[in-house]
Amino acid sequence: MDRKERALEVARLLKKEHPKPKTELNHENEMQLAISVAMSAQTTDKKVNQVNEKLFKKYKTWQDFANANLEELQLDMHGINFHRGKAERVIKMAQMVINDFGGKLPQNMVDLMKLPGVARKSSNVIMQELWDIAEGIVVDTHVTRVSNRLGLTEYQDAVKIEKDLMELLPKESWRNISGAMVLHGRYVCTARKPKCGECVLNKICPSAFTFE
Ligand code: SF4
Repeated sequence: MDRKERALEVARLLKKEHPKPKTELNHENEMQLAISVAMSAQTTDKKVNQVNEKLFKKYKTWQDFANANLEELQLDMHGINFHRGKAERVIKMAQMVINDFGGKLPQNMVDLMKLPGVARKSSNVIMQELWDIAEGIVVDTHVTRVSNRLGLTEYQDAVKIEKDLMELLPKESWRNISGAMVLHGRYVCTARKPKCGECVLNKICPSAFTFE
């Protein structure tokens, strides 16, 4: 089985496991998702959800975030890694959404990536979760680890991994593989002790059972 055949099989098997993968960041609207994604860098989704339960009761609109007092917002975001810088970027993001995009998130990668705190990975997540548009593949720490173990890339750099995966897989599978591989990495192909015995990919994975 060559790399491309393996990639297609990975996509097929993971789709069976996760037919409609969704982000585990709790959100009720596009603003909440964009802010949650910006806050989630180097922090677990669980922690972000905990902090945001209170945060989104206090700040309900883009205007609320745009007008927020920086020090107060930093305190409200306490518990999130790098919360000081993130609070600053969230305020700037809200101001830009209001001033440059009429109070709505732009529905394209180029404009989304102009928002402070939103880089390529975050843009991919937002586009896929909110509008089911896949212009790329989400590459986070889980996708980096899993795609390396599966021999689909040799890179650690997210942009290069995304390019490899996009070349191996047809565009119609990008939406699913993004969410499915994140969940697979979070719950099965975990960093320290991957659960190869219960992994649906263990017959085609070159790293299967090499961790014991
Ligand atoms: S077989 Fe093991 S190493 Fe390979 S993807 Fe599954 S859990 Fe990860």
